[in-house]
Amino acid sequence: MDSTDIIIIGAGAVGLAAAYELSPKYRHIIVLEKEDTFGRHTSSRNSETIHSGIYYPQNTLKAKLCLRGNELLYSFMKHQDVSHIKCGKYIIATSKDEIPEIEKLKINGELNGVPGLSLVTGHEISSAEPDVNALMGVHVPTAGVMNSYELMKRFESMSKENGVLFAYRTGVSRIEKVHDGFTVHTDRGDSILAEVVINCAGLGSDMIAASCGIDVDAAGYRLKYCKGEYYKSENTGRMKSLVYPVPSPDGKSLGIHTRMFTDGTIVFGPNAYYLKKNEIDYSLNNDRRDEFMNSVPLFIKRDVSDMSVCDCGIRPKLQGPGEKFRDFVIRDEGDRGLKGLVNCIGIESPGLTSSLAIAEYIAEII
Ligand SMILES: Cc1cc2nc3c(=O)[nH]c(=O)nc-3n(C[C@H](O)[C@H](O)[C@H](O)COP(=O)(O)OP(=O)(O)OC[C@H]3O[C@@H](n4cnc5c(N)ncnc54)[C@H](O)[C@@H]3O)c2cc1C
Repeated sequence: MDSTDIIIIGAGAVGLAAAYELSPKYRHIIVLEKEDTFGRHTSSRNSETIHSGIYYPQNTLKAKLCLRGNELLYSFMKHQDVSHIKCGKYIIATSKDEIPEIEKLKINGELNGVPGLSLVTGHEISSAEPDVNALMGVHVPTAGVMNSYELMKRFESMSKENGVLFAYRTGVSRIEKVHDGFTVHTDRGDSILAEVVINCAGLGSDMIAASCGIDVDAAGYRLKYCKGEYYKSENTGRMKSLVYPVPSPDGKSLGIHTRMFTDGTIVFGPNAYYLKKNEIDYSLNNDRRDEFMNSVPLFIKRDVSDMSVCDCGIRPKLQGPGEKFRDFVIRDEGDRGLKGLVNCIGIESPGLTSSLAIAEYIAEII
């Protein structure tokens, strides 16, 4: 049987960032990925926003790793020539009853340490973004957008340069605890012995945890898939900043906002609805068009009545419908008799922003 120091399961942004971070420190690292290349799931089906950390409750991993990740990511992208823009964002109120929410967000962001937040008038917002209709808002200068494909490609190639082996088309079927580590069984019928296993399997991360004998319901690791769709209109111009509404009160999502690409073109989304089954279903239809028609015209002055669906992703959520905030799970399972198994579960937004900070955190844990 082959053996290695570390196996990383999953080549999304988190697994790739972990490979990049750990590769100068460990000689033998293997990344096992079931698809034929990296980034085929959530990491390439999202808004590509570099979040600031304004939204999350204080002292949570989401707040801390988002703030740290924001800083690490800008520095990495600048030095490694990954396309991005630190364009800033407006979180806006379009009705009077949303104004207290904006004020609360600003206070929360300041308590989290987000720099440079300021309250702005509707007039200031429309001077910066003439297509936007807002009563007032909070300006978040550290938010931005990136090209997630380029980011992941850099993580992969720099990890390879440091000796990391990537095994694509190799799904992990089961993990077994053995005396000196873990035997990782693949769906190709191979087994590899590893001292440390890092589970970055995204939408499959609860199943990986279950395969090593963890009761995922008792542990609170059972994922609930929550789909988000994007809609586009041919009548939108380019924008310079991101525009977000106040987040949905049920904590399901940040609300339908502009998703801006690095050339300034925009689409709208994502909405958020739980899938009945945990099945990866990226099919697209216009069934929820009304939801977009009821929200986008509230903050965009242009005629967007031609909107149609153009993309989607699925959030690996720990929080079920109507449930309270859940934080990222990133932990060594030593207290379950599985020392050396690091589970990363429920890595929904701001997981992309936090990817380098999550990698740094994993490096501290192992
Ligand atoms: C609609 C939407 C919008 C979002 N917007 C943002 C945003 O603007 N900013 C932000 O910071 N975050 C955002 N996020 C969150 C962000 O995209 C995720 O947190 C991040 O991409 C998670 O990366 P990951 O590597 O954990 O998961 P993934 O990218 O899903 O990677 C997991 C990998 O594991 C592999 N895998 C699964 N099971 C197995 C197995 N058994 N064996 C081997 N490989 C396996 C998969 O094939 C996949 O490649 C958004 C998410 C969604 C859905």
